[in-house]
Parts: sequence; structure tokens; C-alpha cells
Amino acid sequence: MSTAPPVIELRQVVTSFGAHRVHDGIDLAVQPAEIFALIGGSGSGKSTLLREMILLHTPDSGSVQVLGTDLKGLSRQAAQSLKQRWGVMFQHGGLLGSLTVHENIGLPLREHTAFSDRLINELASWKLSLVGLKPEVGAQMPAELSGGMLKRASLARALALDPPLLFLDEPTAGLDPVSAEGVDSLVLSLRELFGLTIVIITHDLDLLWQVTDRVAVLADGRVQGLGAMAELARSEVPAVQAFFKGPRARAAAVQADKVAAAASQETPWKPK
Ligand code: ADP
Ligand code: MG
Repeated sequence: MSTAPPVIELRQVVTSFGAHRVHDGIDLAVQPAEIFALIGGSGSGKSTLLREMILLHTPDSGSVQVLGTDLKGLSRQAAQSLKQRWGVMFQHGGLLGSLTVHENIGLPLREHTAFSDRLINELASWKLSLVGLKPEVGAQMPAELSGGMLKRASLARALALDPPLLFLDEPTAGLDPVSAEGVDSLVLSLRELFGLTIVIITHDLDLLWQVTDRVAVLADGRVQGLGAMAELARSEVPAVQAFFKGPRARAAAVQADKVAAAASQETPWKPK
């Protein structure tokens, strides 16, 4: 493992909404160029934890460090510049309906750089092709796109400022299997090409088995399991086991085994 400091480090994070304690002491660290997933049942606090990593929510106690910066007590200006160093793909896309796809992708550049219109257009076109969308999609409005295309377009926007860190909330939810597979390989290629650190919230077992390095299982306010999928699959913790029961979980594990067997030796996550 690398000796570089973690890209994200959470220590004893506690979060409550009224009397409801959602996080009861969360510790975790995400390493450089790692593809890290947060999983857990609905309401287990995944989205809130992600919001705490991107300065949209502040925990009641504990510390959150991202890209070497403690998020507590940042000045407005420091927060603004830090926010430009990560990209976020929200669950429901979050593109502006009144702008074309191309304008949406260029928007962060328009807001945060003094680049010329021409350069912004060129960079937006390059991001469009990077996520596998045809140039003509750029002229379309978000409402005209399929679910898979919308996810790709919002990924292109998240990548507009070339962030070293990317957050993806349910990147394959609602996609057909072929589109979802496309997202799997896109995520892998982003890490390979740019060394991005990627944090994913997902329920998608194929994505978890085939793309992630490590996974944190949230339940009852804590991290109940942390490790590669193959390690978690052997865990005896009930909250972790819950994810590996049932036909869908087994089918994904079998598929991952087949992929691993077909792949070369250096496949990092090869299950035993
Ligand atoms: P997950 O993403 O794992 O489904 P969330 O982080 O969205 O879970 O929510 C965790 C819990 O916190 C849920 O019980 C949810 O109702 C509650 N919660 C989240 N955000 C708020 C909020 N702004 N106000 C009150 N309760 C909230
Ligand atoms: Mg959520």
C-alpha cells in the first residue's frame, strides 16, 4: 500500500438529526487512487456521510479531513477553493434543465475559471467524449437524454475542473444492465487514466465486485465491516453478511469469480 497520506480521513464522526443518531463514531480512511464504496441499508447514513465529505453538512463531533484539509471552521474562501478540487455526481444527475448538455458541462469552468468561451467549449467537448457521449449529445437538453446518458453527462460535468477526487452517489441506479456495465468500465478507466480517487455509494453488486478496492459497510451508526468484497464475503458480522445473502448477491459473486478467472494474474481484487 502507498505511504502517502489518505485522501479522506474520518475520525469518530457523530451525526444526529434531533434525537436520531445516524453516525455513532465513524472512522475510515480512503487512500490515493482508491475506488472506495460506502454500502448499507436505506437510512444507514451513507448520503449524509458523503454530504459531510463535501461540505454540505457538518457532523456534531469528530473530524473530517479531505485532500489534507480539516473541513471544520474553513473560511468561505477556503471552502470555495476546496470544493473545486472534487467532482460530485449526484444521484439524480443534478444538471440544469434550462441549459444544453454542453453548457451544463462547461458551467463549472465558466464559474471558476477565466478561460475564454472557446477554450471552455473545447474542454466541455473533450469531457463529453471522455464519458463516451457523441458530440451531437452536447446540443441536447437534459430532459431529452436516457438515464444512462444523463449519468454520463453529469459525470462529465463532475470532471469539468479535472478534480483529483470524485464522489458518485448511486451511479448505476435505474440503468439497464448494459448501461450499468458501461459505467463500471468508465469508473475503472478514470482511475487508470488519471489516478483519480473515487468514493461511490451504491447497492449495485456487480459494481462492488468488479470495480471497488475496498468497501465500508454502515449499519447502526458504525462501520461494521471494512475491506475488499472478497474479505467482506467471509465476514461473520450479521450486518455485513446481509449483503451476501440472497440470489442476487450470489449471482454477482459467481460472475465476479468468472471475470477474475478469465482475467490475468494481476487482477487486484481476485476473490479466493
Ligand atoms: P442513506 O443514504 O444511507 O439511505 P441518509 O444519510 O440519507 O441515509 O439518512 C440517514 C438518516 O438520517 C435517515 O433516517 C434520514 O431520515 C435522516 N436524515 C437525513 N438527512 C436529514 C435531514 N436533513 N433532516 C432530518 N433527518 C435527516
Ligand atoms: Mg442515500
